[in-house]
Amino acid sequence: MNLKTFLTAICLATFSSTFAQLVTVYSPDSLLSVVVDCNRSGQPQFSATYKGVPMLESSPLGLRTNNGNYVDSMKLVDVQTRQIDKTYKQSKIKTSEVQYKANEAICTFVNPSGQRMDITFNVSSNDVAFRYSLPREFDKASVTIFQEETGFRFPQQTTSFLTPQCDPMIGWKRTKPSYEEEYVVDAALTSPSLYGQGYTFPCLFRIGEDGWVLLSETGVSSRYCGSRLGEYTNGVFPLAFPMEGENNGNGSVAPAMALPGSTPWRTLTIGDTLQPIAETTIAWDVVDPLYESEHNYKMGKGTWSWILWQDESINYEDLQKFIDLSAAMGFEYTLIDNWWDKNIGKERMGQLIKEAQAKNVDVFLWYSSSGYWNDIEQGPVNMMDDPIIRKREMKWLQSQGVKGIKVDFFGGDKQETMRLYEAILSDADDHGLMVIFHGCTIPRGWERMYPNYVGSEAVLASENMVFNQHHCDVEAFNATLHPFIRNSVGIMEYGGTFLNKYLNKGNKSGKKRMTSDVFQLATAVLYQNPVQNFALAPNNLTDAPQVCLDYLKAVPTEWDETRLIDGYPGKYVVLARRAGDKWYVAGINATDKELKLKLDIPFLAGKTVQMYSDDKEVLPTVKPIKIKANGRVDMAINPECGVVMVD
Ligand code: CA
Repeated sequence: MNLKTFLTAICLATFSSTFAQLVTVYSPDSLLSVVVDCNRSGQPQFSATYKGVPMLESSPLGLRTNNGNYVDSMKLVDVQTRQIDKTYKQSKIKTSEVQYKANEAICTFVNPSGQRMDITFNVSSNDVAFRYSLPREFDKASVTIFQEETGFRFPQQTTSFLTPQCDPMIGWKRTKPSYEEEYVVDAALTSPSLYGQGYTFPCLFRIGEDGWVLLSETGVSSRYCGSRLGEYTNGVFPLAFPMEGENNGNGSVAPAMALPGSTPWRTLTIGDTLQPIAETTIAWDVVDPLYESEHNYKMGKGTWSWILWQDESINYEDLQKFIDLSAAMGFEYTLIDNWWDKNIGKERMGQLIKEAQAKNVDVFLWYSSSGYWNDIEQGPVNMMDDPIIRKREMKWLQSQGVKGIKVDFFGGDKQETMRLYEAILSDADDHGLMVIFHGCTIPRGWERMYPNYVGSEAVLASENMVFNQHHCDVEAFNATLHPFIRNSVGIMEYGGTFLNKYLNKGNKSGKKRMTSDVFQLATAVLYQNPVQNFALAPNNLTDAPQVCLDYLKAVPTEWDETRLIDGYPGKYVVLARRAGDKWYVAGINATDKELKLKLDIPFLAGKTVQMYSDDKEVLPTVKPIKIKANGRVDMAINPECGVVMVD
């Protein structure tokens, strides 16, 4: 048993005179192990192996704070262990019921001044979560963390799949950073990032032929900032705090907390295949709901006039057309984007909301988050950052029966901004409102922490295809990354699934979609998002294949289980999701050749499934196919096309 092995390691270490003290924590299945000790200068460090193969080499740990430093000449003086075995239900994520079994070790270090720091490691089958905790001692009840010494040192054969952090206060109306940068795949560890500002989470690494590691963090609330990886330096990716210039320089870079207190969890998902990377639930395993809601939030599908018809569509008549489109598709929602305050006004908006409700369509309304930190003029502005105005506005929204808000343009990961995210969520829940964030950071456990949180953009989303042909050209490439990276750790509000050939109001010329219709249908399954605002337009009711419309009427947005069948980030992916007793298996091909796959899909063995397929010249078809009794499936996917099987 691991606990025994684990205790043996402690004893051996304790009695060894030549080595520093050392703790080994094994996963319950013993395949993953983490070693924690101090290096020669007494700095805490950790490493990880999977099936005996090194996946993370000795990597630095420690904190520099205004109460003292917990970095050098530290002694590992104690370890407390515990086995965790919990089952929890969670809506909105890739699976609805999770069993989390982990071995936990709380390692206590002491610095030369006698100050204590705990580092807790939770090790489960394919995940390591760790965090720092500081006690209340020496009369200190608060602390500011100047810097974390946390870093990650990968074996030399490692390549990276990363998206850079950008400079602060760049982009549209000085709103960045907003996690809207392009990925570079299979890059050498030493290749610098585009802006020299490191990388945003989540960060994927391929340890050569040995396996994969996905780095991220979870449990970030108003009590800390969001972090990222700094530039690769001396063989290590250091953890980095937000940049000084974020939010126009407002708010401090260094997070502060009351004592006793803990940092967020930093997570490593580790496997010899990509399966644990795509299927991990670690973002939710180690966090708890921060409040209970008295409201019952209903997930679902919606239309969104702005994505194809842009700002000009924010008028009464055009919005009526999108309400009618939602009604025709049986969708629950329509999302009304920026400028509704100026173009329509509150009084007529009340009337439009009533009209929608009479057609069984509910409304999400857009707000700017700002604010005093960017140049946004789209309205409504200056409401969500002020608690008095915010609560007054939310009271009005509730009185109109509005079901949710989309809040845009945050532009930073400082603790000050995390407080704003949390304040909006908390006030919105008081008024029965769901919240979608755009122009924002990634969620960090928020699906579980905040009951009314339903989505974040934090990705180069569908709007970029509308703005720029380049993003149409790389759509398939990006789509094969998200199930392994961005969307694996949290809801991704991509706002996609186009059926227009041309991405504008006329659908006649302009930015051209390069992927097939069934590719688009597949993204409705690949992109996990419990409130899906699809990029449909009223013309699609008559110009899109009926097969596609029928599919989108039926496709779920909430899932009970997610399984990776096959894939490689940047090339192709086949992913299965189950809702109730129905499986959807979605495959897409980002290469320029036909992809011939031999797949094992045991849960479809012997079943007859509906197979959707196409190529760019041939209209989508759906036909029944019978899966062999052994669950083997031969699948062919055309370039930039997709396949979906529905059982
Ligand atoms: Ca955006």
